[in-house]
Amino acid sequence: MTAVPARHRPRALPARTLTRLTPADCTPTQWATAKAKADAGNRVLAFIENGMHSADFTNDLYRTCSQHLFSHIALHDQHGFADVWFTTPTDKANFIRHAMNARCLGDPAWTWSDVEQHLQDTLADHPALQQPSAWSMSQSSTTPGCAALPTEPNDATETVVTEVTATLLIGDSTTVCSNCKKPTLLYGVSRHTDISGRKPIPGGGCGARFVSTDALDRPISAARLKELRPDLPVRDTPNP
Ligand SMILES: [Zn+2]
Repeated sequence: MTAVPARHRPRALPARTLTRLTPADCTPTQWATAKAKADAGNRVLAFIENGMHSADFTNDLYRTCSQHLFSHIALHDQHGFADVWFTTPTDKANFIRHAMNARCLGDPAWTWSDVEQHLQDTLADHPALQQPSAWSMSQSSTTPGCAALPTEPNDATETVVTEVTATLLIGDSTTVCSNCKKPTLLYGVSRHTDISGRKPIPGGGCGARFVSTDALDRPISAARLKELRPDLPVRDTPNP
């Protein structure tokens, strides 16, 4: 893999597609300034855009990921970490899904929860990255010349640039995302990043951004829906 010059390795996204952090987005901790947190988070975003090639996984990226982000564990060292997360397209898709499903817990004055939340928010705009197909060209080292071109079919490329939105379908005992029909938390979620509910289901939410509410199975008044999620409008189309 190191035999292929960096500029010939296929990318996952055009440079700077993912929204960068600024120091104003970050709270300093005792050990890291706001700028240090923003810079480190932005290096992770660039690494993702560049295709998450293990040859590009520096010790600096390793320290950021293994010490600060998404409850990652050390996996011995940077090479062990790269072996687990950046070897195959499936590994890479799993790395993104792991990030999307992690909970960004803790006071940002003590943790990197502010950086984690930002990464989740900008990665949610690109749900295709959670699929191995988004990374399948990242392994190729035998197609010089065209390696930098995206290889997904046009409709998959469109998924990368089009934000997926969904309605929060609220029922008596469960809340479901209208995009993937899987359960989601009702409160405090602006995107479908986790699958939870009375019976938590392992795996990730689809990343869709919730733009409205509606009743899931039984009629619920618009006033009640508004009471449950005052931040979201009630969907005006009838429930299918
Ligand atoms: Zn969903």
